[in-house]
Amino acid sequence: MVASEVIIIGGGPAGSSCAWMLRQYGMQVLILEKESLARAKPCAGWITPSVLRDLHVHPKEYPFGLLTMRKLTVHLFGKRLPLPTRQYSIRRSEFDSWLLQRTGVPVFTHRACRIERDGYSYVIDDAYRCRFLVGAAGTSCPVYGALFRGVRPRPEDALVITLEKEIPSEDGDGTCRLWFFDEGLPGYAWYVPKEGGYLNVGVGGKFSRLKVNNQSIRDHWHAFTEKLKGLSVDPDHISNPRGYAYYVRKDTGPVRNENAYLVGDAAGLATIDMGEGIGPAVKSGILAAKSIITGAPYSLARLSRFSLKDILLPGREYSQ
Ligand SMILES: Cc1cc2nc3c(=O)[nH]c(=O)nc-3n(C[C@H](O)[C@H](O)[C@H](O)COP(=O)(O)OP(=O)(O)OC[C@H]3O[C@@H](n4cnc5c(N)ncnc54)[C@H](O)[C@@H]3O)c2cc1C
Repeated sequence: MVASEVIIIGGGPAGSSCAWMLRQYGMQVLILEKESLARAKPCAGWITPSVLRDLHVHPKEYPFGLLTMRKLTVHLFGKRLPLPTRQYSIRRSEFDSWLLQRTGVPVFTHRACRIERDGYSYVIDDAYRCRFLVGAAGTSCPVYGALFRGVRPRPEDALVITLEKEIPSEDGDGTCRLWFFDEGLPGYAWYVPKEGGYLNVGVGGKFSRLKVNNQSIRDHWHAFTEKLKGLSVDPDHISNPRGYAYYVRKDTGPVRNENAYLVGDAAGLATIDMGEGIGPAVKSGILAAKSIITGAPYSLARLSRFSLKDILLPGREYSQ
């Protein structure tokens, strides 16, 4: 049996941020991650300046491709609104691997399944034991399933379903493009350019609204790909998109149960307006770590439910 003071299940942004903070305070911590990184996570890879600030990373220090997007074009009810902004884009395979490696904590490649209480400890798959357990394994997190399902229900109207594809592209001017509510999509479609000749395109919408309207996310994807052809995207590159589902924020119950914590998508923390999940994952991971370190309550009350303010007024750049 491998024992550690803290075990984090999931090595995405939530788990890595939590481990990074715990490690700085000398806590004994290990991560169980089911994939060997760099894994390809379905995600547009847009991050706000506050993500870098929270992670104490100056844009110039990030060792992989980081594109600064200074222009955002919003398409809304046939109108085209060009807006100034300062957002970043990263590739998730690079970003997540780098965050995980930066933690400096041991990472075991293991898909966690069974979680049991044994006195003051948590035991995972009869193989790992800890005093503090952090559920950071995204939508299908086993910590949620074992310890939170009954006390923090996930309402269907908070479920967002998506289809996306990351493709090679020679997009020149680094403009991020968003189309809201096209063809009745209860969400938006995106076009997020990346450094190094990549582009992420996708559609995401509320599952409950799609169901009521008798629409499928795949039909919206097909309509969107027609639009992309007009933007010089090679049609051969946009077949076979990947799907993923996650929850936007609804505070339906606790995110802490004795010494077990939920962070990031495992807690369903993406913002209500934009479905931004990386920022809330990072912030919640850090807050959970601080609670473990200090014994203070774990509260997400100050974590914003909305992204638009951060997009339109991105605030200061991180400086050391
Ligand atoms: C198509 C799409 C586009 C998106 N675009 C954006 C965007 O541009 N910007 C943004 O801010 N947010 C975006 N999001 C949301 C964002 O991707 C998530 O909110 C974010 O990844 C949450 O981070 P996390 O660490 O909580 O979970 P994850 O990133 O999902 O990480 C969970 C980790 O746990 C591991 N894991 C899962 N199960 C187990 C298990 N049983 N045992 C061990 N390990 C396990 C997984 O392999 C994974 O590495 C998007 C989401 C989707 C689906």
